[in-house]
Amino acid sequence: MMDGIAALDADLRDLYQDLILDHGKHPRNFRKPGDVSREALGHNPLCGDRLIVYLTLDADGTIVDAAFQGSGCAISTASASMMTEMLKGKTRAQADTLFKFMHMACTGAGEIKTAGLTQDEIDRLHALAGVRHYPMRVKCATLAWHTMQAALSALPKASTE
Ligand code: ZN
Repeated sequence: MMDGIAALDADLRDLYQDLILDHGKHPRNFRKPGDVSREALGHNPLCGDRLIVYLTLDADGTIVDAAFQGSGCAISTASASMMTEMLKGKTRAQADTLFKFMHMACTGAGEIKTAGLTQDEIDRLHALAGVRHYPMRVKCATLAWHTMQAALSALPKASTE
C-alpha cells in the first residue's frame, strides 16, 4: 500500500518531508516578541498540542512579526514554524487567504490556488497538505492556523474541536 504522499514525485516528497522534519526539530520564531499586538491560545485535545500564537501588527494592521510558543507534536510545531515565517509582511486579507488555502489543502477540499503566493509558500503549503492522507494529523497541522485566525479576530482561544 502506498503511503499518503507517495503519489508525488519522490524528490518533491523528500523535499516536503525534509521541510516538516527541519521545522519540527528546529522551529523558527519560537519566542515571545516584546511588542505583541494580538495573541491567542490554541489547543488540540486529540493530540495534546498546545500553543500560543503572537502577532505584532503595525498601524495599518499588517503583520510585522509572528511568533509562537508551546508544546506539541512535530507536525503542529513545524506548521506553526512555517506559518510564522509566511505571515511576516502580510496584510489581514493576505493572512486570511493563506489560511483558506492551507485549510483547503489539508482537508482535500480543493487545490491550492497559487495566484499571489511565492514558490516557497506554495512548497510549504504542499508540504503541510501531506497530512490530508492522515486524518488524525490534520488538526495538528491546522492548529496554529486556527489560532492565528483567533488572534487576528481578537479571540483569546482557538480549539480544533
Ligand atoms: Zn499533534
